[in-house]
Amino acid sequence: MKIAFIGLGNMGAPMAANLAAAGHEVTGFDPVTAPPEGVTAAASGPAAVEGAEVVITMLPNGAILRDVAAGLIPAMAPGAVLCDCSTVDVDSARAVSAQAEAAGLSALDAPVSGGIGGAAAGTLTFMVGGPDPAFERVKPLFDIMGQKAVHCGAAGAGQSAKICNNMILGVTMIATCEAFALADKLGLDRQKMFDVVSTSSGYSWSMNAYCPAPGVGPKSPADNGYKPGFASELMLKDLRLSQQAAQGSDADTPMGALATMLYETFVEQEDGRGTDFSAMLPRFEKRHRG
Ligand code: NAD
Repeated sequence: MKIAFIGLGNMGAPMAANLAAAGHEVTGFDPVTAPPEGVTAAASGPAAVEGAEVVITMLPNGAILRDVAAGLIPAMAPGAVLCDCSTVDVDSARAVSAQAEAAGLSALDAPVSGGIGGAAAGTLTFMVGGPDPAFERVKPLFDIMGQKAVHCGAAGAGQSAKICNNMILGVTMIATCEAFALADKLGLDRQKMFDVVSTSSGYSWSMNAYCPAPGVGPKSPADNGYKPGFASELMLKDLRLSQQAAQGSDADTPMGALATMLYETFVEQEDGRGTDFSAMLPRFEKRHRG
């Protein structure tokens, strides 16, 4: 298949490389980084998408996506699919989809989970919004870049699923970290805490698969000095998107709002930037009540 890949950063470059390695003809554009092996460089975004059947974007945020998509859409071949894999706000995803459809194209919002490791290994999970035929056309590419693609519904449904998932993740990580810090103050051994909670009703992915306490549970960023993994500032980005969506849809999300505030403080006023999002545990360890 002839594919254009726009945005070749930490995630985009390995994803594009995997498509090329699987035998697809991939042309890429990024104003900053050179394309990975197997991907042909184009001089601009619109030049990259000429004649492509599928155009994939992997960009930092919704404002950049809107701007880039406005330039790409007029240059795209009739009937082509614009598939955005960035994490952006639901409104931007829907706006870009409407613009693509007005031009006779189809669009998917297909954010991912799995991080840089998943992008390199081709084991990402795609959460996809958009029309059925477009999903079916891009599905073979999702299967190369990832291990699972869930078609969640119409335009915006992929981004909606992503931010709801990550709002749960942010809240449960904070709850797990504050409970470990409380257990410490109560003199409870961390391994015992893990043994009980991981098999009791307090269990979660944060405790069982990504335990924030070093030396306890499976290997996680806590065992590597809290080097990301999933950086605190990326968690903050996703939590802010959840609150933007909650505001726009009049949803009451008090725990999501508090998690956003805590990660904001951690990243912007404390030493959280550049640490894994599970570094909330050493943060709570140092603190006192009130
Ligand atoms: P990144 O900053 O490494 O890459 C973004 C790329 O977009 C950069 O190379 C940048 O030069 C390029 N870009 C900016 N403006 C452009 C333009 N006008 N035209 C073409 N390219 C342009 O970010 P990343 O880590 O690759 O993340 C990309 C997206 O994936 C983000 O939306 C992020 O939230 C999401 N995401 C990241 C992770 C992760 O672990 N890094 C995990 C899941 C989802």
